[in-house]
Amino acid sequence: MTDCIFCKIAAGEIPAEKVYEDDHVVGFRDLSPQAPVHVLIIPRRHIATLNDLTEADEALVGHMHRIAARVAADEGLAERGYRTLINCNAEGGQTVFHLHLHLLGGRQMTWPPG
Ligand code: 5GP
Ligand code: ZN
Repeated sequence: MTDCIFCKIAAGEIPAEKVYEDDHVVGFRDLSPQAPVHVLIIPRRHIATLNDLTEADEALVGHMHRIAARVAADEGLAERGYRTLINCNAEGGQTVFHLHLHLLGGRQMTWPPG
């Protein structure tokens, strides 16, 4: 999608502090971090929300989570712990409509989330 900010980050058209990239996903630091480590893992291909996944995307979503765990390990969080989450649509708190997995860590997480 031409007007999607995360498509532009994936394509390198606007800057982001990337911590991981491969043929399928890109990981970059959140512009407004909610924890000492706050990384977003996105598919290169535009998928708007979790609702838009198809069976063909199952491997991709698994890959996003495995890469989140790898980035968490790189950031020294594997043993301490961390949180991954995906917000979906308005009541889920989604503000950017290109699928992204949040990786948050480096502080104690609380439950329930707000
Ligand atoms: P959502 O609320 O959709 O789950 O999360 C969107 C996230 O994207 C927010 O945490 C927000 O800070 C982050 N974000 C929005 N625009 C940009 C941007 O241009 N660059 C980066 N690195 N993060 C962004
Ligand atoms: Zn997009």
